[in-house]
Amino acid sequence: MDWLLTPGPVRLHPKALGALARPQLHHRTEAARALFLKARHLLKEAFRTEGEVLLLTGSGTLAMEALVQNLFAPGERVLVPVYGKFSERFAEIAESAGLQVERLDYPYGAVPRPEDVARRGFEGLLLVHSETSTGALVDLPALAQAFRGANPEGLVGADMVTSLLLKEVALEGFGVDAAASGSQKGLMCPPGLGFVALSPRALSLLRPRGYYLDLSRELRAQREGESAWTPAINLVGAVAAVLEEVLPNLEAHLALKAWQNGLLYEVGEGLGLRPVPEVRSPAVAAFYLPEGVPYGAVKEAFAKRGAVIAGGQGPLKGRIFRLSLMGHYDRYEAFGVAALFREAFSDILPAS
Ligand SMILES: *Cc1c(COP(=O)(O)O)cnc(C)c1O
Repeated sequence: MDWLLTPGPVRLHPKALGALARPQLHHRTEAARALFLKARHLLKEAFRTEGEVLLLTGSGTLAMEALVQNLFAPGERVLVPVYGKFSERFAEIAESAGLQVERLDYPYGAVPRPEDVARRGFEGLLLVHSETSTGALVDLPALAQAFRGANPEGLVGADMVTSLLLKEVALEGFGVDAAASGSQKGLMCPPGLGFVALSPRALSLLRPRGYYLDLSRELRAQREGESAWTPAINLVGAVAAVLEEVLPNLEAHLALKAWQNGLLYEVGEGLGLRPVPEVRSPAVAAFYLPEGVPYGAVKEAFAKRGAVIAGGQGPLKGRIFRLSLMGHYDRYEAFGVAALFREAFSDILPAS
């Protein structure tokens, strides 16, 4: 078995594996409805919202697109700080939905400041909480508050794909109206489900849009424990099983994930590697490649030891590498990965 050190998909939680080994449920049965409602209930707890969470069959990007399309109308103005590949994607999704996008560009690795988004005249602000492409974490509550101060009617949409179950989140508590996430990151499940969390305010402002992506239609079905179309019900079972296990011990889980990511940074910095992000997300550790070392050599040194890692995206392609323990790893396995990291670099940077 490979050590998946990639920031999604990740090493699966045993509860997910157990749920996936069960016989197929038909989605229009009482048992499936009960499971679907349980997953929705647990996801509401995970997002800390009094609103609703909708499960969509697709990846995290589908959830981002559904969020944008159902909360904004073509021609509306949205502010989109761009500080990595996923915030870039948020801007592209908004453009493709016909919105007027005002981009705020930052060097990859940097994070936007609250004063940057305190600008009037916008219907929305779109932010990525944990920018997986650079390893940066933004101060979502402070940014949402600054934007809302300038645009009291404006809506804040957030990508929480690699903050859900990795860093404390609270939808309304953060001043966020809607958030997107997915099954294959902090939830330690296979890829295939996207989630859209909607605050009570966002629910009252939903605009029916599209067909498969129409969240108003999904909401009517999902309140009854069904979905408009055939859901990936097996994955719904995996998500419910993992949340049922993790949520009662969420604080300890978040502390473990933060410690593990800190350990990766400790090892990397000990090897003389320079971290990429200005503010570190607990989801992933990103380092610049040492001078003259191609990404392929680092990837190969890990692969030789059975580990899969990730490279850079966009302008960071060929300049960085990324490691993540957001999958199911316990404390001792993390020490094993730390040892593997040091050993891999002994191939790359032989002691002089
Ligand atoms: C993984 C990820 C996504 C979604 O990517 P998909 O491949 O569509 O699941 C979105 N945002 C962030 C920050 C991510 O890490």
